[in-house]
Amino acid sequence: MRIGLPKEIKNHEYRVGLTPASVRELVAHGHQVLVQAGAGAAIGLADAQYQAAGAQIVADAATVFAQADMVVKVKEPQPQECAMLRPGQILYTYLHLAPDPEQTAALVKSGAICIAYETITGPGGGLPLLAPMSEVAGRMAVQAAAAHLEKSKGGMGVLLGGVPGVPAGHVVILGGGVVGTHALQVAVGMGAKVTVLDKNVDRLRQLDLVFGNRIHTLYSSAQSVEDAVLDAEVVIGGVLIPGAAAPKLVTRSMVARMKPGAVVVDVAIDQGGCFETSHATTHADPTFVVDGVVHYCVANMPGAVARTSTFALNNATIAHAVALADKGWKRALQDNPHLKNGLNVAEGKVTYEAVAHALGLGY
Ligand code: NAD
Repeated sequence: MRIGLPKEIKNHEYRVGLTPASVRELVAHGHQVLVQAGAGAAIGLADAQYQAAGAQIVADAATVFAQADMVVKVKEPQPQECAMLRPGQILYTYLHLAPDPEQTAALVKSGAICIAYETITGPGGGLPLLAPMSEVAGRMAVQAAAAHLEKSKGGMGVLLGGVPGVPAGHVVILGGGVVGTHALQVAVGMGAKVTVLDKNVDRLRQLDLVFGNRIHTLYSSAQSVEDAVLDAEVVIGGVLIPGAAAPKLVTRSMVARMKPGAVVVDVAIDQGGCFETSHATTHADPTFVVDGVVHYCVANMPGAVARTSTFALNNATIAHAVALADKGWKRALQDNPHLKNGLNVAEGKVTYEAVAHALGLGY
C-alpha cells in the first residue's frame, strides 16, 4: 500500500502522524511511504531521517493526498484537506466528529474511509489511542501549576515541594483516571502533599495500593471536594464522564473562597471543564484570574510538547496502521473489533452510532 504523511496545517500544530521509526516499520512490511517535505521539521524530525527510514519526500500535501491509499495524520482534516480526500482512500487520524457537523459532512461527501483514533478501543477496555495524550496532559498539569504558583506568573509564591523546615504545597486532583494518575506521579515526585478524589472507589483502592501513604484518597462528594479545594495550593481537574460534559465539581463560590494566588489547571476543559469559572485558553495566552485564583485551561495541552506527544501517539497508532496497510481496511476491521470501533465514516455514510446521534443523522 502507498501511505501518505502530510504536514499538519491546524494553527500551532507541530505534531506529526508518523515518526521515522514508524515509517521504517511500514517500509519493512513492504509498503511505500510518501512524506511531505518538512512534515516533522518543527519537532526535529528532518526529511533526511524520513529518507533514511525508507520514505520518499514529496513537495506538497496535494501530491501526498493524490497518491496515497492511506493518509496518516494527527488532527482532524481541515476543509482544504477534506476536499483532497477521494472515495475509498483511508484516513487514519483524530477526528472528534460529534461536535463538528461541517467536518462530518465533508468526510461523508469525500467517500473516504475515516478511522478515528479516539474511538478505537483496547482489549483491556479504555481508549488506548487517547490515553497517551491524557498521560502527557496529566504530567504537564503539575509542571504548569508549579510554574504558575510563582509570583511573576500571578501565583502565591509557593514552591510545590517546599524545603526542609517549610511545608510543601497541597495538590488536589479531581479524578483518578489517566490524567489524574499521571498528575499524581509528578506531584508526588516533586514532594507535594497530594490528595486525589474519585467517585470510583476501585480506582482509589488501586491508587492506594501503588502509592500508599504518599497520597491521600477521598471519595468525591460535594463536601469532600469543597474541603479539599479550600485547603489546596493547586487543584487539577481530570474528571471524565464518557460521552458527557464534565461535571462542574468546583463552584464559583468555592473558587471565591480558595487561597489567593492558588492555581487551578482544568485539564477537562476539552469537555467543558470541571470548574464553574473555567473557559478554554490557548498556549499563547494560557491563564486568566478569577477572584485571585489563577486558571490554566489550555484545551490542547499536549501540543506544547509536540515532540514527546508525537512519539507517544505513534507508540499507540503504529500497530493498527501496519494492520490497515497489510490487510486493507475491510479485512483489518473484520479481524479486530477494537479497530472496527474506530470507523466513523465510510463510503459516504456515518458508521459510528454516537456521532450519528449527536448530529441528528440516521444510522
Ligand atoms: P479517565 O476516564 O481515565 O478518568 C476520568 C476519571 O474521572 C475516572 O476515574 C472517573 O471515575 C472520574 N470521575 C468521574 N466523575 C467524577 C466525579 N464526580 N468526581 C471525581 N472523579 C470523577 O479520563 P482521562 O483520560 O483521565 O481524561 C480526563 C479529561 O481530560 C477528559 O475530559 C479528557 O478529554 C481530558 N484531556 C484534556 C487534555 C487537554 O489538553 N486539555 C488532554 C488530554 C485529556
